[in-house]
Amino acid sequence: MSTHLGNTGKVTEYVIEIEGLSKTYANKFTAVSNLSVKVPQGVFGLLGPNGAGKTTTIQILVGAMKPSAGTARILGHDILRDSLTSRKLIGFLPERPGFYDEMSGRRFLCYMGELSGLSHREVSSRATELLEWVGLKRWGDSPISQYSAGMRQRLGLAQSLINDPQVLFLDEPTANLDPLGRADFINKVRELAGQGKTIVISTHIIPEMEQMADHIGIIARGKLVVEGSIKELLHNSRPGIYRINVSQPELLVKELEARDFIVKTSLKDGQFLVETRDGDKLSATIVAFCSEQHQQLRLFEPVRADLQQVFQEALERVGGSDGS
Ligand code: ADP
Repeated sequence: MSTHLGNTGKVTEYVIEIEGLSKTYANKFTAVSNLSVKVPQGVFGLLGPNGAGKTTTIQILVGAMKPSAGTARILGHDILRDSLTSRKLIGFLPERPGFYDEMSGRRFLCYMGELSGLSHREVSSRATELLEWVGLKRWGDSPISQYSAGMRQRLGLAQSLINDPQVLFLDEPTANLDPLGRADFINKVRELAGQGKTIVISTHIIPEMEQMADHIGIIARGKLVVEGSIKELLHNSRPGIYRINVSQPELLVKELEARDFIVKTSLKDGQFLVETRDGDKLSATIVAFCSEQHQQLRLFEPVRADLQQVFQEALERVGGSDGS
């Protein structure tokens, strides 16, 4: 894991540290409630159903909105006390980016770059580089009004990178993309992570997170429900469920049902699943059974959870899937 020097000269292990962040809107609705999470370098997926508080959290982190309580540090810089520095370190692609349709893509990038304090010379070479990187080289001088939804999204990504930020916030970036556009976007995000950047992506689309994110935080009703590396979360979830294939599963079901370390067996549509409190005892019993009954053991493997299951189980634990 990389380390970073914060403004206090202190080495911090995490790129973003969110501490007790809360936001109550003027109508007294609490959209984010005491959220604390530490984000290491890489791709961090902020997952949650609509209304969970993802946009509110990102808006606070990028300095577009003040929290009601709590704070966060980006590369050691407090987003409230040291907002000028923290904002210079970040790039942001909002959920619905506002483009000036009559401008060309290139002009728009230069304009946004100059707004972020870069010189004319710097922005113009950076704009050329970025247009090429996002595959808009041929379209750079055409008005944005002629761009498709996918091209607009790529221009948005280029805009968020104009100041070569260390940390990037992308709010629901793939919502309007077709499958090809999504795959391309995922590759681009992985490429940025490979350059050492940290990318926070909010989404309610789960499968692509498995391909894109290193770590995720699941939020529901403004609260962090689950957090960790994808590997860890998939490994830790669904402990004790095994998929088995033997010649006569019905016989094995009978054999297993009498054992106290078995929680449940299920034999449906050719799939034989067993949930157990003790994987070692289960495998020993099956091996003994197969040898005594002259059965062939064709498969014995733990069931791997997917992120969708982790997500659903997390939401079930907090009892609800939306923020209403
Ligand atoms: P998400 O990005 O996860 O869909 P949001 O952060 O946009 O969630 O919204 C979280 C909750 O806060 C929603 O219930 C939303 O209706 C509410 N909300 C968002 N903005 C405002 C606002 N300006 N005033 C009052 N409630 C708001």
